[in-house]
Amino acid sequence: MIIKRACFDNFRNLKDCEIVPCEHIHIICGNNAQGKTNILEAIWLFSGFRSFRGSKDNELISFDSEFFSDSLEFYAFDRVQTARMSVSRQQRRIILNDVPLKLTSELIGSFCCVVFSPSYLSLVKGGPNERRRFIDTAICQITPSYAGVMKKFTRLLDQRNYLIKEIKRGRAQVSELDVWDEQLCEAEAKIANERIFYINEIAQYVNEIHSGLSGQSENIELRYLTRVGKYFKETVEISQEEILRNLKNNVDKDLFNGMTMTGVHHDEIDITVNGRNIKKFGSQGQQRSAVLALKLAEAEKLRDISGEEPVILLDDVMSELDERRQDYILNHIADRQVFITCCDPSTVPRLNTGYVFRVENGNVSRETVV
Ligand code: ATP
Ligand code: MG
Repeated sequence: MIIKRACFDNFRNLKDCEIVPCEHIHIICGNNAQGKTNILEAIWLFSGFRSFRGSKDNELISFDSEFFSDSLEFYAFDRVQTARMSVSRQQRRIILNDVPLKLTSELIGSFCCVVFSPSYLSLVKGGPNERRRFIDTAICQITPSYAGVMKKFTRLLDQRNYLIKEIKRGRAQVSELDVWDEQLCEAEAKIANERIFYINEIAQYVNEIHSGLSGQSENIELRYLTRVGKYFKETVEISQEEILRNLKNNVDKDLFNGMTMTGVHHDEIDITVNGRNIKKFGSQGQQRSAVLALKLAEAEKLRDISGEEPVILLDDVMSELDERRQDYILNHIADRQVFITCCDPSTVPRLNTGYVFRVENGNVSRETVV
């Protein structure tokens, strides 16, 4: 997957801006608040997912404009394709190869990229929901039907939680839960097993990359944990019956709390480095390396499934990493199309092949061809 040309107009502070990349690494450098991350965000939106900054459409439109209009020309699946995105305060228009799409999510799978942003550090620093979201988004890119299962699960869970509140108020019977429990457990078993399968699939890549980053001195491991009562236990496979049993055993607790206290919405992905939990014991650099390893492993998996090398977007990845880790990143991803933002110009001379873009006040210029 190679971006041939990208145009952004009125996307945040980017006005009438065009980028014609090469097939390798690009360093996007500039001072703070010039528009470097905005470029990555604009490219990322063509993957069909929401902004990695969690921004709403309105926030993406330039302050003094009514709409933004971006386009991406890219080579994928043996042909040049074009995606266009025009977003006003009222509506979104997405066109892929001259065909209008109803939903932005229909872009998923056409243009694939993987992004690392400092906000993803919450993947190790934050709560279990951050790790579940990472896994769920990654699975959606390779198995689009997974999004449907997640949606169904969320709806069933809402309905069950509503019923629990009704039972608590004395307006429904405990036996009425059976109708929802059966369907809920079916969806949950699919979700848990997809997640476990995905973790197993990327484990080898994560380990290789993390070992490379750390100079073979650290061993990273991922484990899927299911909550049973108060405790978490490692799970390598889970059946619908087991989930149902767990659910039934916790009805009293659910009624007491007024919501469903067990299930895949409470599961955890345990990340350890050299046997110790990275959230509790990892240094800043170790945590950053772990997130990077997960993200780059996600890219490897995406390539295995789609046959296309995804575009890699790395926002402010170099800070907090020592020179060896930085060099590993630059070498490891050398054979893909990569965009790296940074403020520190000392990164540039270490690049063997690629382009340097300088961003100033929303204007992009190509500085040197390395
Ligand atoms: P840093 O090195 O600090 O990460 P950056 O170059 O990555 O900086 P960006 O986040 O890409 O900076 O851009 C920030 C700039 O974009 C800010 O000056 C901000 O005011 C501007 N900006 C954000 N949203 C909008 C918008 N909707 N319209 C116009 N400008 C915007
Ligand atoms: Mg930035």
